[in-house]
Amino acid sequence: MSDYLLIRNVLPFKNKSASKELIDLLIGQDGLLEQVGSKIKAPTNSKKLDLKGAYLSRGWVDLHTHIYHGATDISLLPDQIGMQTGVTCLVDCGSAGEANFEGFKRYIAETAQEKIFSFLNIGSIGLVACNRVSELALGYRSVDFDRTLKVIESNRSLIRGIKVRASQVITGDLGVECVRLAKKLARISELPLIVHVGEPPPLLDDILPVLEKGDVITHAFNGKAGGNIMEDPHTFALTKEAKSRGVVLDVGHGKSSFSFEVAKFALKHGLSPDVISTDLHSHNYQGPVYDFPTTLSKLLTLGMSLEEVIECVTTSPRLVLSETVNENWLVPGQPADFTAFTVESVKFKAFDSMGTELLIREFILPQLAVLGAKWEQCQSRGWEQLASGNQPLFAPESSPEMM
Ligand SMILES: [Zn+2]
Repeated sequence: MSDYLLIRNVLPFKNKSASKELIDLLIGQDGLLEQVGSKIKAPTNSKKLDLKGAYLSRGWVDLHTHIYHGATDISLLPDQIGMQTGVTCLVDCGSAGEANFEGFKRYIAETAQEKIFSFLNIGSIGLVACNRVSELALGYRSVDFDRTLKVIESNRSLIRGIKVRASQVITGDLGVECVRLAKKLARISELPLIVHVGEPPPLLDDILPVLEKGDVITHAFNGKAGGNIMEDPHTFALTKEAKSRGVVLDVGHGKSSFSFEVAKFALKHGLSPDVISTDLHSHNYQGPVYDFPTTLSKLLTLGMSLEEVIECVTTSPRLVLSETVNENWLVPGQPADFTAFTVESVKFKAFDSMGTELLIREFILPQLAVLGAKWEQCQSRGWEQLASGNQPLFAPESSPEMM
């Protein structure tokens, strides 16, 4: 193992856009940046990587994933979707509830090489048997305020939000009441509320007024009947108004929660995502989602600029997590947390959750992820699958997505 990592020839994203000047970075064994500049002299015992003009941004954050592997029936391992694909920070979005949070902390968060956070499910059992036993199946008895608040209080460093799945298949007759309960928990604990939207009821029209600055709508660009933002001008206006007061719109692609048509419509009418996330779990890992870089490339193709895409996966999600967005991230003495990537010209057919096709001509391909003293040369499963012309493997069952 080398004492130093020397990264040569990268173009850093500074002030939201890429610099035109190539720089080198030297990272010490302690995971701190030691030198930043041009033509840094390599110390003895250093691993040297020439990235030949690749871009460099803060480490990518995937704000909506499922990584409580072994304790829920849908979760992946952090290793499968983390640094290997350019992601240095993974947020588990509601897989754990108060009753099983300790396992998440001990066996996932404390062992992963990525930085890990959790949005705690308001249902005590979390997503143990995700598509079979709703975490709100017992109605009001599914939520235990006392225990949930205690778990949050004991795990402030890990729990950065409250998650509620506001789809009829989950909520049963609780309807929008579950969002109000979750909002109450979020207010008491001073955390943001993350609301999954999908099959109504509850209606987005009833959910949006409950949300405040910093709260998040995930699956914001879904194409579900009665639950999407495109089909009713009133709902679209309400969503725009929510965004203008600071409600965060997150993509949360998922198996059935992202529509190219809805995203195109929203972008055309001035409503862009604030955060881009995958909702990766075992039913969409083999397509249509595959991985984080594939999702980013879809948004780039749909009309977002590279600068906007990078903002949506670096600065914006860190603000949701109440993490410091360090302006001096490229200054010696700072902990290393970077993703290096290239934008490759391609001709790939990709699909959304509705089975709609999109021709991708530019692919955001991660090259290297560095977090402290750990680093990994990256790859993209989506890139490999789409390049070989493979069709996504849609899960055989036709159940609505409930993640
Ligand atoms: Zn999910």
